[in-house]
Amino acid sequence: MREGIENGERLHRRGRVEMKSNKQRRTEIMARRHARAAAKQAATARRSSARQLSEMTFVEPWMVALNNSFAVPRRQYSDYAFTCRDCAKPQVWTAARQHWWYEVAGGHVWSRAVRCAPCREAERLRVKVARQIAEAGLARKRERLAVVVASEERANEA
Ligand SMILES: [Zn+2]
Repeated sequence: MREGIENGERLHRRGRVEMKSNKQRRTEIMARRHARAAAKQAATARRSSARQLSEMTFVEPWMVALNNSFAVPRRQYSDYAFTCRDCAKPQVWTAARQHWWYEVAGGHVWSRAVRCAPCREAERLRVKVARQIAEAGLARKRERLAVVVASEERANEA
């Protein structure tokens, strides 16, 4: 008797579930889908904002090239205004570029931007050319020295 009632209730319940109209079911499915999409979007936004914060704002001391320096000079990056050393134009060294310089490129912990991008490029070229000239001069000097040494050795043998 009891079992019969329970079965009846279960049947009744199942009956109610099956009574849902297609439209109702579709609405529920769409609502669930929307909720899932919204949750996913929120999670993505949270993750990307957390990443942005860690990448743009905070120093990760273990990533900074400390070069025997025990002090970490800044806890946070912020845009840094300066004047180009060569062309004297006002510049801004952005927080993002600072993060890249200290923690990706391995820039010295106490170094700071002093030149604008074109002047930096020109300076790099100037240093490169100067080094090539110096190395060529050194090579000629070594060559001359080798000639002198060889002639002295011949003189000693004679
Ligand atoms: Zn400049």
